[in-house]
Amino acid sequence: MKRPEWSYLEPKAIILVGPPGSGKGTQAARVSPVLGIPTVSTGEMLRRECQSGSALGHAVKAILASGQLVSDDLMNQVVASRLRESDCRNGFILDGYPRTVAQARFLENLLVELNVPGRVVFHFDISNKDVVSRLTRRLQCAKCGRIFSMSATAGDREMLCDRDGSTLVHRPDDDANCIPERLRLYEKNANPLLRFYRQRGCHRIRANRSPEEVAREILAVVSSESTTPRVVFSRPRAKAAGQPSYSV
Ligand SMILES: [Zn+2]
Repeated sequence: MKRPEWSYLEPKAIILVGPPGSGKGTQAARVSPVLGIPTVSTGEMLRRECQSGSALGHAVKAILASGQLVSDDLMNQVVASRLRESDCRNGFILDGYPRTVAQARFLENLLVELNVPGRVVFHFDISNKDVVSRLTRRLQCAKCGRIFSMSATAGDREMLCDRDGSTLVHRPDDDANCIPERLRLYEKNANPLLRFYRQRGCHRIRANRSPEEVAREILAVVSSESTTPRVVFSRPRAKAAGQPSYSV
């Protein structure tokens, strides 16, 4: 991926915290190519792990099938192994992680270990009413997992992914009946998590605006925080004219 010049300054962890439907996935997909760093989405990773049929995948599948949340330990393991991959060395966007204070503490140590000094946290702030209306209109590509919003004009037409042409489907957990429970679960963990990050610096984003506006704000914040070069590129100094040169 091509990276803008300023992003060479330091690897960054960009952390998106917000309820389901607040636009984290949409924004991650927008800013990731601009920043030249990958998105690490825990939802997607867990789904992929389940499909892979690995031992870890089977464990995750059993937990999800029982309706429970994946434990902090297991989630930390999955994320840590992903962040150690080489495409994450210049930074990454975290979507859906950390979800609890225990995970956030684990991540703080992991960032030190991975030598990722910059951490920018965005809180996607949105009302429950807006979340409900967004989630009930939300569609996802069955193949690549990209999120789309059902437009009012689409009618009964089948909607297709503009990247791979696959059918867009409603996610079963976006069912209107599940949403209050998901929001309750989110808030229970998010309140202490946001307290943790507010003490360390956290940007509040008004998430009920257009994706363009939100993306612009995220990029402005990230670039304004990229002022401390970690590596100073040194070029051999050109010899000043008229200076005597010595050779041995
Ligand atoms: Zn797709």
